[in-house]
Amino acid sequence: MAKVNDNYLKLPGSYLFSTIGKKVAAYSAANPDKKIIRLGIGDVTQPLAPAIITALHGAVDEMAHAETFHGYAPDLGYEFLRNAIAKNDYVDRGCDISADEIFVSDGAKCDSANIQEIFSLDNKIAVCDPVYPVYVDSNVMAGRTGTWNPQTETWSDVIYMPCTAENNFAPELPSRTPDLIYLCFPNNPTGSTITKEELQVWVDYANSVGAIIIYDAAYEAYISEEDVPHSIYECEGARTCAIELRSFSKNAGFTGVRLGFTVVPKELKAGDTFLHPLWARRHGTKYNGAPYIVQRAGEAVYSPEGKAQLREQVAYYMKNAAAIYDGLSEMGYTVSGGINAPYIWLKTPDDMTSWEFFDYLLEKANVVGTPGSGFGPSGEGYFRLTAFGSYENTVAALERIRRM
Ligand code: PLP
Repeated sequence: MAKVNDNYLKLPGSYLFSTIGKKVAAYSAANPDKKIIRLGIGDVTQPLAPAIITALHGAVDEMAHAETFHGYAPDLGYEFLRNAIAKNDYVDRGCDISADEIFVSDGAKCDSANIQEIFSLDNKIAVCDPVYPVYVDSNVMAGRTGTWNPQTETWSDVIYMPCTAENNFAPELPSRTPDLIYLCFPNNPTGSTITKEELQVWVDYANSVGAIIIYDAAYEAYISEEDVPHSIYECEGARTCAIELRSFSKNAGFTGVRLGFTVVPKELKAGDTFLHPLWARRHGTKYNGAPYIVQRAGEAVYSPEGKAQLREQVAYYMKNAAAIYDGLSEMGYTVSGGINAPYIWLKTPDDMTSWEFFDYLLEKANVVGTPGSGFGPSGEGYFRLTAFGSYENTVAALERIRRM
């Protein structure tokens, strides 16, 4: 008789954004006249930049002729894209990463969920709390997290690293030694960052205890401050302890186009085993490569026109971030993030829980945000707003919150 992977049955509740979606749908159905402004999910709203559209059109036309048609893509990615990534994201920033250490994929969500597969189920994972839910849930599905405690909303075998106002939303080194450490900077959901010096402490720690850092830099394009690293490979020794995940979703608006990549340095080992061939094997067996058309679009991200247009796009969202940050601060809210990230993290007023504030904001201002508790127990009493809306909607949402 067929049996399910009963780790799936351990997953508590539905995925955070499904719950939000259901609540908003119910509210809209009951109040069809209300215009809801969504500053919840981290999806972009601006159209693809012209340089990317041109590249897409060009690649589509190539597919129309036998001489330029492309079938299955190389499973690790086309050379033209891997070379552009290595040069622009790494070599130009002084990082020693080569094209053959880059694995092109259809996005950082899949990579961040799948990467755990190449590690033993015995590994202990450490995650920030609050955290992007995919890191934990994918380890639950694999059976690495022990039992769920509904009272504390924590897993028995996960090492949580609280990120609170007291530590400026940056984790401290864990008291129990982990094997895998998930770090994400600029951070989703808090919008916080750490300096290169602070990241160096993590790299030294991981090397000293033989842990691997899975470093999610999906929001790297939003960094505005000098001392914030764009890549973990800016730190000395990261090649022997870190895997980096990147996405084209937030820097180039590819949330619906789908493209990302993972960097696995050649000398990175878990114990005595090199990880690069393992991830290559996994990729080769389970993945058939991001589409040629999409990889050509990705290449255009690194063209001079693409870079200029995307700088403008990021600046557009960061203008929203500044408007939210300044607007809420003026209204007396306690806010953080929004300087190197498109997320603003605010303390809920009057000791409301995160979900109470969610309902309050939805009903009184018809604005949708994300309850901080959905990202982990330390997110309770916090709320995330995103800068990915249109400027007009962002300003309108703030006005409604002011009047609330
Ligand atoms: N990593 C983090 C931290 C994210 O917040 C997100 C999306 O919101 C992703 C990865 C997903 O990126 P992608 O669209 O490339 O799958």
